[in-house]
Amino acid sequence: MNKNILVYIEITDNKIENVTGEIISYLHQNFNDCNINGLLLTDNSTYNSVKNDLKKLNIDKLYVIKNDNFNRFETCIFASQIADFIENNQVDIFLAGATQNGRDLAPRVASKLNIGLTADCTELNIDENAKLLATRPTYGGKMMAAIYSKTRPDFATVRPGAFKIERMQTKETEIVEINSNLCNLNQSVNIITTMNKALNDRFDSADIIIAGGLGLQTKDNFDLIYKFSQLIDAAPAASRGAVERGWAPKSIQIGQTGKSVSPKIYIAFGISGAMQHLVGISNSNKIIAVNTDINAPIMQSADMAVIADAAGVLNSLLDKYS
Ligand SMILES: Cc1cc2nc3c(=O)[nH]c(=O)nc-3n(C[C@H](O)[C@H](O)[C@H](O)COP(=O)(O)OP(=O)(O)OC[C@H]3O[C@@H](n4cnc5c(N)ncnc54)[C@H](O)[C@@H]3O)c2cc1C
Repeated sequence: MNKNILVYIEITDNKIENVTGEIISYLHQNFNDCNINGLLLTDNSTYNSVKNDLKKLNIDKLYVIKNDNFNRFETCIFASQIADFIENNQVDIFLAGATQNGRDLAPRVASKLNIGLTADCTELNIDENAKLLATRPTYGGKMMAAIYSKTRPDFATVRPGAFKIERMQTKETEIVEINSNLCNLNQSVNIITTMNKALNDRFDSADIIIAGGLGLQTKDNFDLIYKFSQLIDAAPAASRGAVERGWAPKSIQIGQTGKSVSPKIYIAFGISGAMQHLVGISNSNKIIAVNTDINAPIMQSADMAVIADAAGVLNSLLDKYS
Protein backbone atom coordinates (compact mmCIF):
# COMPACT_ATOMS: atom_id res chain seq x y z
CA MET A 1 0.00 0.00 0.00
CA ASN A 2 2.75 2.41 1.07
CA LYS A 3 0.79 5.64 0.82
CA ASN A 4 1.99 9.01 2.02
CA ILE A 5 -0.61 10.28 4.44
CA LEU A 6 -0.49 13.86 5.68
CA VAL A 7 -2.45 14.82 8.81
CA TYR A 8 -3.21 18.45 9.58
CA ILE A 9 -2.06 18.99 13.18
CA GLU A 10 -4.40 21.37 14.93
CA ILE A 11 -3.52 23.25 18.10
CA THR A 12 -5.96 25.24 20.20
CA ASP A 13 -4.97 27.13 23.34
CA ASN A 14 -1.49 25.56 23.34
CA LYS A 15 -2.94 22.04 23.25
CA ILE A 16 -3.02 19.55 20.39
CA GLU A 17 -6.67 18.89 19.51
CA ASN A 18 -7.83 15.40 20.53
CA VAL A 19 -9.06 14.68 17.01
CA THR A 20 -5.46 14.91 15.74
CA GLY A 21 -4.46 12.08 18.09
CA GLU A 22 -7.61 10.15 17.21
CA ILE A 23 -6.79 10.26 13.47
CA ILE A 24 -3.17 9.19 14.04
CA SER A 25 -4.19 6.36 16.36
CA TYR A 26 -6.78 5.12 13.81
CA LEU A 27 -4.20 5.20 11.00
CA HIS A 28 -1.77 3.11 13.05
CA GLN A 29 -4.47 0.51 13.68
CA ASN A 30 -5.96 0.36 10.18
CA PHE A 31 -3.45 1.64 7.61
CA ASN A 32 -0.41 -0.64 7.74
CA ASP A 33 2.71 0.21 5.77
CA CYS A 34 1.76 3.85 5.20
CA ASN A 35 3.98 6.82 5.92
CA ILE A 36 2.16 9.02 8.38
CA ASN A 37 3.35 12.61 8.37
CA GLY A 38 1.93 15.75 9.95
CA LEU A 39 1.67 19.39 8.96
CA LEU A 40 1.48 22.18 11.52
CA LEU A 41 1.29 25.93 11.00
CA THR A 42 2.25 27.85 14.09
CA ASP A 43 4.25 30.68 15.64
CA ASN A 44 7.46 30.28 17.67
CA SER A 45 5.90 30.75 21.08
CA THR A 46 3.12 28.19 20.58
CA TYR A 47 5.60 25.80 18.98
CA ASN A 48 7.93 25.99 21.99
CA SER A 49 5.08 25.36 24.42
CA VAL A 50 3.91 22.17 22.67
CA LYS A 51 7.22 20.91 21.26
CA ASN A 52 7.47 17.97 23.69
CA ASP A 53 3.93 16.83 22.88
CA LEU A 54 4.63 17.15 19.15
CA LYS A 55 7.57 14.76 19.48
CA LYS A 56 5.18 12.20 20.95
CA LEU A 57 2.68 12.41 18.08
CA ASN A 58 3.85 8.98 16.91
CA ILE A 59 4.20 9.90 13.24
CA ASP A 60 7.13 9.63 10.86
CA LYS A 61 7.75 13.29 10.13
CA LEU A 62 6.16 16.50 11.32
CA TYR A 63 6.53 19.49 9.00
CA VAL A 64 6.21 22.71 10.97
CA ILE A 65 5.65 25.89 8.96
CA LYS A 66 6.55 28.72 11.31
CA ASN A 67 5.65 32.37 11.10
CA ASP A 68 5.14 34.75 14.01
CA ASN A 69 1.87 35.83 12.46
CA PHE A 70 0.54 32.28 12.79
CA ASN A 71 -0.21 32.87 16.47
CA ARG A 72 -3.88 32.64 15.60
CA PHE A 73 -5.84 30.73 13.01
CA GLU A 74 -6.32 32.69 9.78
CA THR A 75 -8.36 30.54 7.47
CA CYS A 76 -7.42 32.02 4.04
CA ILE A 77 -3.71 32.26 4.79
CA PHE A 78 -3.56 28.79 6.35
CA ALA A 79 -5.44 27.34 3.35
CA SER A 80 -2.94 28.87 0.88
CA GLN A 81 0.07 27.61 2.84
CA ILE A 82 -1.36 24.10 3.14
CA ALA A 83 -2.30 23.96 -0.55
CA ASP A 84 1.24 25.12 -1.50
CA PHE A 85 2.76 22.46 0.73
CA ILE A 86 0.62 19.68 -0.75
CA GLU A 87 1.36 20.79 -4.30
CA ASN A 88 5.09 20.64 -3.66
CA ASN A 89 5.22 17.34 -1.78
CA GLN A 90 4.18 13.79 -2.44
CA VAL A 91 0.86 13.48 -0.59
CA ASP A 92 -1.58 10.65 -1.41
CA ILE A 93 -4.09 11.25 1.39
CA PHE A 94 -4.69 14.45 3.37
CA LEU A 95 -6.73 14.31 6.58
CA ALA A 96 -7.90 17.00 8.96
CA GLY A 97 -10.22 17.12 11.96
CA ALA A 98 -13.78 18.30 11.32
CA THR A 99 -13.44 20.83 14.12
CA GLN A 100 -14.84 24.34 13.82
CA ASN A 101 -11.58 25.55 12.23
CA GLY A 102 -11.10 22.33 10.25
CA ARG A 103 -14.55 22.72 8.67
CA ASP A 104 -13.66 26.27 7.72
CA LEU A 105 -10.25 25.39 6.34
CA ALA A 106 -10.86 22.15 4.44
CA PRO A 107 -13.18 23.37 1.64
CA ARG A 108 -10.79 26.26 0.95
CA VAL A 109 -7.82 23.89 0.63
CA ALA A 110 -9.89 21.59 -1.61
CA SER A 111 -10.92 24.51 -3.78
CA LYS A 112 -7.34 25.79 -4.13
CA LEU A 113 -6.13 22.33 -5.18
CA ASN A 114 -9.24 21.70 -7.27
CA ILE A 115 -9.83 18.36 -5.54
CA GLY A 116 -12.79 16.67 -3.89
CA LEU A 117 -13.39 16.63 -0.14
CA THR A 118 -15.34 14.08 1.90
CA ALA A 119 -16.34 15.96 5.02
CA ASP A 120 -17.19 14.78 8.50
CA CYS A 121 -16.20 11.13 8.10
CA THR A 122 -16.70 8.49 10.77
CA GLU A 123 -14.72 5.68 9.14
CA LEU A 124 -11.77 5.42 6.74
CA ASN A 125 -10.61 2.39 4.75
CA ILE A 126 -8.41 1.53 1.81
CA ASP A 127 -10.16 -0.57 -0.86
CA GLU A 128 -8.63 -3.35 -2.97
CA ASN A 129 -7.50 -0.79 -5.58
CA ALA A 130 -5.64 1.17 -2.89
CA LYS A 131 -8.18 4.00 -2.98
CA LEU A 132 -9.34 5.75 0.15
CA LEU A 133 -12.93 4.92 1.07
CA ALA A 134 -14.21 7.63 3.37
CA THR A 135 -17.49 6.82 5.11
CA ARG A 136 -19.92 9.39 6.48
CA PRO A 137 -23.57 9.47 7.57
CA THR A 138 -26.06 10.58 4.92
CA TYR A 139 -29.85 10.97 4.49
CA GLY A 140 -30.19 12.41 7.98
CA GLY A 141 -28.03 9.66 9.45
CA LYS A 142 -30.25 6.84 8.10
CA MET A 143 -27.51 5.52 5.81
CA MET A 144 -23.75 5.45 5.73
CA ALA A 145 -22.15 6.46 2.42
CA ALA A 146 -18.70 5.11 1.50
CA ILE A 147 -17.23 7.71 -0.84
CA TYR A 148 -14.10 7.62 -2.92
CA SER A 149 -12.62 10.56 -4.70
CA LYS A 150 -11.84 10.87 -8.40
CA THR A 151 -9.14 13.45 -7.71
CA ARG A 152 -5.73 13.29 -6.03
CA PRO A 153 -4.77 13.55 -3.25
CA ASP A 154 -7.68 11.95 -1.39
CA PHE A 155 -8.95 14.44 1.14
CA ALA A 156 -11.27 13.91 4.10
CA THR A 157 -12.14 15.55 7.39
CA VAL A 158 -12.78 13.34 10.40
CA ARG A 159 -15.44 13.93 13.01
CA PRO A 160 -13.97 14.56 16.50
CA GLY A 161 -14.78 11.60 18.75
CA ALA A 162 -15.42 9.23 15.83
CA PHE A 163 -12.17 7.31 16.53
CA LYS A 164 -10.70 6.29 19.85
CA ILE A 165 -7.14 6.91 20.94
CA GLU A 166 -5.60 3.52 21.67
CA ARG A 167 -2.42 3.29 23.68
CA MET A 168 0.41 1.87 21.59
CA GLN A 169 4.16 1.86 21.34
CA THR A 170 5.33 5.28 20.25
CA LYS A 171 8.40 6.39 18.38
CA GLU A 172 9.86 9.88 18.49
CA THR A 173 8.64 12.04 15.64
CA GLU A 174 11.20 13.70 13.40
CA ILE A 175 10.47 17.42 13.20
CA VAL A 176 11.24 19.38 10.03
CA GLU A 177 11.01 23.12 10.56
CA ILE A 178 10.15 25.32 7.60
CA ASN A 179 10.23 29.08 7.92
CA SER A 180 7.31 30.62 6.11
CA ASN A 181 8.51 33.34 3.78
CA LEU A 182 5.12 35.02 4.00
CA CYS A 183 5.83 38.39 5.56
CA ASN A 184 3.03 40.49 4.22
CA LEU A 185 -0.04 38.79 5.60
CA ASN A 186 -2.91 40.40 3.85
CA GLN A 187 -5.49 39.52 6.45
CA SER A 188 -8.97 39.45 5.05
CA VAL A 189 -10.76 39.13 8.36
CA ASN A 190 -11.01 41.57 11.28
CA ILE A 191 -11.44 39.79 14.60
CA ILE A 192 -14.18 41.54 16.56
CA THR A 193 -14.22 39.22 19.53
CA THR A 194 -12.83 35.85 20.56
CA MET A 195 -14.47 33.20 22.71
CA ASN A 196 -12.66 31.11 25.29
CA LYS A 197 -13.01 27.45 24.38
CA ALA A 198 -13.55 26.59 28.05
CA LEU A 199 -16.91 28.37 27.83
CA ASN A 200 -17.89 26.19 24.93
CA ASP A 201 -17.70 22.53 25.83
CA ARG A 202 -15.59 20.19 27.95
CA PHE A 203 -16.19 17.02 25.97
CA ASP A 204 -12.49 16.34 25.41
CA SER A 205 -11.60 16.28 29.08
CA ALA A 206 -14.67 14.88 30.85
CA ASP A 207 -15.11 11.18 31.61
CA ILE A 208 -18.84 11.60 32.17
CA ILE A 209 -21.30 13.51 29.99
CA ILE A 210 -24.74 14.43 31.32
CA ALA A 211 -27.15 15.20 28.47
CA GLY A 212 -30.68 16.52 28.51
CA GLY A 213 -33.51 16.42 25.98
CA LEU A 214 -37.12 17.46 25.52
CA GLY A 215 -38.26 14.97 28.16
CA LEU A 216 -37.04 17.51 30.70
CA GLN A 217 -40.10 19.58 29.67
CA THR A 218 -38.84 23.08 30.68
CA LYS A 219 -35.75 25.27 30.60
CA ASP A 220 -35.72 25.32 34.41
CA ASN A 221 -35.58 21.54 34.46
CA PHE A 222 -32.85 21.57 31.80
CA ASP A 223 -30.78 23.77 34.12
CA LEU A 224 -30.62 20.75 36.47
CA ILE A 225 -28.31 19.21 33.83
CA TYR A 226 -25.82 22.06 34.40
CA LYS A 227 -26.15 21.82 38.19
CA PHE A 228 -25.64 18.07 38.33
CA SER A 229 -22.75 18.17 35.80
CA GLN A 230 -20.98 20.78 37.88
CA LEU A 231 -21.51 18.76 41.05
CA ILE A 232 -19.87 15.62 39.69
CA ASP A 233 -17.36 17.35 37.37
CA ALA A 234 -19.08 16.07 34.23
CA ALA A 235 -19.67 17.89 30.92
CA PRO A 236 -23.22 19.08 30.16
CA ALA A 237 -24.72 18.25 26.75
CA ALA A 238 -28.02 18.47 24.90
CA SER A 239 -30.13 16.92 22.17
CA ARG A 240 -31.01 19.04 19.16
CA GLY A 241 -34.56 19.19 20.51
CA ALA A 242 -33.31 20.96 23.64
CA VAL A 243 -31.04 23.27 21.61
CA GLU A 244 -33.89 24.26 19.29
CA ARG A 245 -36.02 25.20 22.31
CA GLY A 246 -33.21 27.53 23.40
CA TRP A 247 -32.51 25.54 26.58
CA ALA A 248 -28.85 24.96 25.64
CA PRO A 249 -26.29 26.45 23.21
CA LYS A 250 -25.56 24.69 19.91
CA SER A 251 -21.93 24.23 21.04
CA ILE A 252 -23.02 21.41 23.39
CA GLN A 253 -25.38 19.64 20.96
CA ILE A 254 -24.53 15.97 20.45
CA GLY A 255 -25.25 14.11 17.24
CA GLN A 256 -25.05 14.27 13.51
CA THR A 257 -25.21 18.05 13.28
CA GLY A 258 -23.51 18.50 16.65
CA LYS A 259 -20.52 16.81 18.24
CA SER A 260 -19.46 13.16 18.45
CA VAL A 261 -18.28 12.15 21.89
CA SER A 262 -16.58 9.12 23.46
CA PRO A 263 -16.91 9.44 27.25
CA LYS A 264 -16.64 6.62 29.76
CA ILE A 265 -20.28 7.22 30.73
CA TYR A 266 -23.00 9.06 28.77
CA ILE A 267 -26.20 9.71 30.73
CA ALA A 268 -29.20 10.80 28.65
CA PHE A 269 -32.08 12.42 30.53
CA GLY A 270 -35.31 12.59 28.53
CA ILE A 271 -33.69 11.99 25.12
CA SER A 272 -35.57 9.72 22.69
CA GLY A 273 -32.45 8.45 20.91
CA ALA A 274 -33.18 9.45 17.32
CA MET A 275 -30.66 8.01 14.85
CA GLN A 276 -29.17 11.50 14.42
CA HIS A 277 -28.47 11.66 18.16
CA LEU A 278 -27.17 8.10 18.46
CA VAL A 279 -24.46 8.57 15.80
CA GLY A 280 -22.84 11.08 18.13
CA ILE A 281 -22.66 8.74 21.16
CA SER A 282 -21.87 5.37 19.60
CA ASN A 283 -18.28 5.45 20.93
CA SER A 284 -19.35 5.93 24.55
CA ASN A 285 -18.18 3.12 26.85
CA LYS A 286 -21.48 2.98 28.76
CA ILE A 287 -24.81 4.64 28.01
CA ILE A 288 -27.39 5.19 30.73
CA ALA A 289 -30.84 6.41 29.66
CA VAL A 290 -33.50 7.92 31.89
CA ASN A 291 -36.85 7.97 30.09
CA THR A 292 -40.51 7.43 30.93
CA ASP A 293 -41.04 5.41 27.74
CA ILE A 294 -39.61 1.89 27.78
CA ASN A 295 -40.00 1.81 23.97
CA ALA A 296 -37.92 4.93 23.30
CA PRO A 297 -35.16 4.01 20.81
CA ILE A 298 -32.40 5.04 23.23
CA MET A 299 -33.44 2.20 25.54
CA GLN A 300 -32.20 -0.27 22.87
CA SER A 301 -28.73 1.33 22.84
CA ALA A 302 -28.47 1.83 26.59
CA ASP A 303 -26.39 -0.36 28.87
CA MET A 304 -28.68 0.68 31.70
CA ALA A 305 -32.25 1.92 31.22
CA VAL A 306 -34.04 3.77 34.01
CA ILE A 307 -37.80 4.17 33.53
CA ALA A 308 -38.47 7.36 35.46
CA ASP A 309 -39.20 11.06 35.25
CA ALA A 310 -35.92 12.74 34.15
CA ALA A 311 -36.29 15.92 36.22
CA GLY A 312 -37.34 13.85 39.24
CA VAL A 313 -34.19 11.69 39.02
CA LEU A 314 -31.96 14.76 38.61
CA ASN A 315 -33.55 16.45 41.64
CA SER A 316 -33.06 13.29 43.74
CA LEU A 317 -29.40 13.04 42.67
CA LEU A 318 -28.83 16.72 43.48
CA ASP A 319 -30.45 16.25 46.92
CA LYS A 320 -28.35 13.20 47.62
CA TYR A 321 -24.94 14.53 46.48
CA SER A 322 -25.13 18.28 47.21
C1 LIG B 1 -30.69 16.22 9.30
C2 LIG B 1 -30.99 16.09 10.77
C3 LIG B 1 -29.95 16.25 11.65
C4 LIG B 1 -30.19 16.12 13.03
N1 LIG B 1 -29.16 16.25 13.91
C5 LIG B 1 -29.37 16.03 15.22
C6 LIG B 1 -28.29 16.07 16.16
O1 LIG B 1 -27.14 16.37 15.83
N2 LIG B 1 -28.56 15.83 17.45
C7 LIG B 1 -29.82 15.52 17.90
O2 LIG B 1 -29.98 15.28 19.12
N3 LIG B 1 -30.86 15.48 17.03
C8 LIG B 1 -30.66 15.75 15.72
N4 LIG B 1 -31.72 15.74 14.87
C9 LIG B 1 -33.08 15.70 15.44
C10 LIG B 1 -33.51 14.31 15.87
O3 LIG B 1 -34.09 13.65 14.77
C11 LIG B 1 -34.55 14.41 17.01
O4 LIG B 1 -35.62 15.21 16.59
C12 LIG B 1 -33.99 15.01 18.32
O5 LIG B 1 -32.83 14.32 18.70
C13 LIG B 1 -35.04 14.89 19.39
O6 LIG B 1 -34.61 15.45 20.60
P1 LIG B 1 -35.07 14.82 21.97
O7 LIG B 1 -34.69 13.39 22.07
O8 LIG B 1 -34.62 15.74 23.05
O9 LIG B 1 -36.69 14.98 21.89
P2 LIG B 1 -37.81 13.93 21.63
O10 LIG B 1 -37.57 13.12 20.42
O11 LIG B 1 -39.10 14.68 21.69
O12 LIG B 1 -37.72 12.92 22.86
C14 LIG B 1 -38.05 13.24 24.16
C15 LIG B 1 -37.95 11.95 24.98
O13 LIG B 1 -38.22 12.26 26.32
C16 LIG B 1 -39.06 11.23 26.86
N5 LIG B 1 -39.81 11.83 27.96
C17 LIG B 1 -40.96 12.54 27.93
N6 LIG B 1 -41.28 12.95 29.16
C18 LIG B 1 -40.31 12.50 29.98
C19 LIG B 1 -40.06 12.63 31.37
N7 LIG B 1 -40.88 13.32 32.19
N8 LIG B 1 -38.95 12.05 31.89
C20 LIG B 1 -38.10 11.32 31.09
N9 LIG B 1 -38.29 11.17 29.77
C21 LIG B 1 -39.37 11.77 29.23
C22 LIG B 1 -39.93 10.79 25.72
O14 LIG B 1 -40.36 9.46 25.96
C23 LIG B 1 -38.96 10.87 24.55
O15 LIG B 1 -38.29 9.64 24.37
C24 LIG B 1 -31.50 15.86 13.50
C25 LIG B 1 -32.55 15.71 12.57
C26 LIG B 1 -32.28 15.82 11.24
C27 LIG B 1 -33.42 15.64 10.27
